[in-house]
Amino acid sequence: MSKTVKIKNIKIGGGNRIAVQSMTNTDTLDTDATLAQLRSLQAAGCDIARIAVSCDEEVEACKKYTGVFDMPLVADIQFDYRLAVRCAEIGFDKIRFNPGNIGDERKVEYTVDACKANKVPIRIGVNTGSLEKEFVGMDRADALAQSALKHVRLLEKFGFYDTVISVKSSDVKTTVRAYRKLAEAVDYPLHLGVTESGADERGTVRSAVGIGALLVDGIGDTVRVSLSGDPINEIRAARLILQEIGIDRDYCEIISCPTCSRCKYDLKKVVDELKEKTADVRTGVKVAVMGCVVNGPGEAADADFGVAGGSGGKAALFINGKVVRTIKTEEIVPVLLDLIKRKITNDKVDI
Ligand code: SF4
Repeated sequence: MSKTVKIKNIKIGGGNRIAVQSMTNTDTLDTDATLAQLRSLQAAGCDIARIAVSCDEEVEACKKYTGVFDMPLVADIQFDYRLAVRCAEIGFDKIRFNPGNIGDERKVEYTVDACKANKVPIRIGVNTGSLEKEFVGMDRADALAQSALKHVRLLEKFGFYDTVISVKSSDVKTTVRAYRKLAEAVDYPLHLGVTESGADERGTVRSAVGIGALLVDGIGDTVRVSLSGDPINEIRAARLILQEIGIDRDYCEIISCPTCSRCKYDLKKVVDELKEKTADVRTGVKVAVMGCVVNGPGEAADADFGVAGGSGGKAALFINGKVVRTIKTEEIVPVLLDLIKRKITNDKVDI
């Protein structure tokens, strides 16, 4: 198991809940837009948010963000160690920074001292696009892992161990192999992500495959889905990945059959309506919407509640896999919503 690193009120690693991260894409100097986006991210379920900081003016602007949110904030610094030190001093909760990029160990020590003094962890974030020359030409996954280890050892040389690591590539297999190598080599918490994964469905699937493969193996302590566009979509995608893997069970899971000619009602409409009306449920409940009574209840035996369509505008209602009564198809949504509500409030379920 990985060790635990505390980032403000969130513990990463050590078997703690997997934290979901994202990053602002507003202009860091535009404080109104950035504050609004940070608020939206927090409301959407983002656990940790990162902000790119590239100059002294941006550090000044960030004083309006630090200390404002319950959600920890991370400063993303590329090369300027002075900015990392300043961000540690103005209340950022974590710094994303690669110490090996500084090129001067006295400056690394100075940065580490500022992080230690302010109890600010460091995330080492190695990407294939920014690998140091000494690793170019190697197997990409080896190169990512070895580059990350080089940064880690540099921090350890100065007695710094509050480290989180990421090794990202836009290639899924390379990313997965690199994280596996790293997980064997160190016990620091790992921040999972597939970088530059694109937009919409392809980006989401790419991230789900890479992050999902690692989480299934028990590797990874925090995740960031990288998608072009509104970062709120990253939070939604990350939450879906955690739900599908069974790490996050506190939601209303709706399973439905693909339908075939045996289905005699508008199953898709029912599913869409249920999905919309249960989006805010934070209790584990499983609902099955099946097309027919031939296979429906059996295929959805582990659902709490469900329906299986029949003929003549009727459907069989089932609870815990057993058919309990027949309802009209137009009653499906209200009846299931009522059962879900009763499960959430622990009310008796009347059959
Ligand atoms: Fe077809 Fe019935 Fe299976 Fe749905 S549950 S796919 S309608 S056989």
